[in-house]
Parts: sequence; C-alpha cells; structure tokens
Amino acid sequence: MAHIVFLTGAGMSAESGIPTFRDALTGLWSRFDAERLATAAAFRRDPAMVWGWYRWRAARVMQAQPHAGHRAIAALEAHGHRVEVITQNVDDLHERAGSTGVVHLHGELLRSRCIDCGAGEHPDPIVRPPADGAREEPPRCAACGGLIRPGVVWFGEALPVQAWSRAQDALAACDRVVVVGTSGLVQPAASLPALARALGKHVLEINPQRSGVTEDADEHWALPASEGLVRLLERLRG
Ligand SMILES: [Zn+2]
Repeated sequence: MAHIVFLTGAGMSAESGIPTFRDALTGLWSRFDAERLATAAAFRRDPAMVWGWYRWRAARVMQAQPHAGHRAIAALEAHGHRVEVITQNVDDLHERAGSTGVVHLHGELLRSRCIDCGAGEHPDPIVRPPADGAREEPPRCAACGGLIRPGVVWFGEALPVQAWSRAQDALAACDRVVVVGTSGLVQPAASLPALARALGKHVLEINPQRSGVTEDADEHWALPASEGLVRLLERLRG
C-alpha cells in the first residue's frame, strides 16, 4: 500500500462544471474583476455585492457533482492506500466523493466566518440560490455584530497556517505525489510540486496541458483529470 498525496487545482473542479475563478466572471458579473470581488477591501466597501457573488458561486458548487476522478481518489483510500488530498479548490467535491481529511489551501466556499472576530462555522447561509448578479446583504455575527464573510482566501491574504503546514508534512511523509489540474501559477501552492521533488518523491502530473509544474514532474500524463485518475486507480488498485 502506498502513501499518496494528491495536489488538485482548478482543472479538477472544471470537469464537474465549476468554472475557474476567471471563467466565473461571466454574465452580469463580467463587468467586475478579481480585485473588486476577491479582496477584504472589496468586501468592506460593498459587502452585498461581494457576498452575492460568492453565494452565486456557492450555489453553482452545490449543484455540481463529483466526477470519476474525485471518486477514483476516494476509491484508493477505500482500498487501503494512505491518501491525503491537498486542494486549491474551494468546493467540497472531494469530500462528497468520499475523501476524508481534505486540506483546503485556499479555504472553503461553503463555510463562512465573521470578518471581525473570526467566529466561524456560521450555519450554511445558502437556503435558496441567489440569481445571477443579485446583490445580497451578508448576515451578521451573533457574537459581535460583524459581517459574515466567505471562508475563502482572498487576494493579499495568507494561506491558513494549519493547512499549509499539513501540506508540507504530507509531502515529507508520503511515497509519491500526484498533481492534478493545477495551473502551477498561483503561489505559494505552486511551489509544492518542486518541494516534493526536492524531497525525492516521485511526482506525476495529470493535466491535458503542460503547466507551470510540468518541469518539476517525473512523469506527465496529458489526460483530463477524470481519465488520468481512473487509469491511476486501475494501476494501484492492487
Ligand atoms: Zn464576530
């Protein structure tokens, strides 16, 4: 049995129909750019606009389903391999496919917390999907009255300390690393494959295109995430 770390990025979720951050700026949101939606300053300036956008994205996530690649990773765990999933994605598709202990480097869309006191685990506020482009006032914190913000990492914010250290521990302890659907451009997450390589781990990249991490990989399978991961499952099922 192997100890495998999966590093997953936007290409993994895209196959489930979840648009990448940039592709999500469509329709009524297309007049905005990331700096106006994905920063703490933007949220403080216009909370209803930013909260509305994240609620719309969260609704898209809730409608999406894990694909065969998510299920293949969960199946490896079910077959007795030690599997750790470190993802840059803010959706919950790995969890819904059955993976446990998923580490979210960039936070989670379906969790929220108070922007002032940090009180978290606010009940999931998504009762009804908001319309595309709809503004929506965020709820207020029961403890301090502060605004409730999405639980994602915004531009200019540090990664969650615990998630980052868990990622590094996992890379140090594992036998092999599989990088799936990452652009390899978003730091510091993009530095993890090179770190794995420096630690002497075998790095396999699954990505239809070459990416910023292809140079750091021992092997590159030019396949979509679902197809590549199903092939990996067949090889490792044992
Ligand atoms: Zn609060």
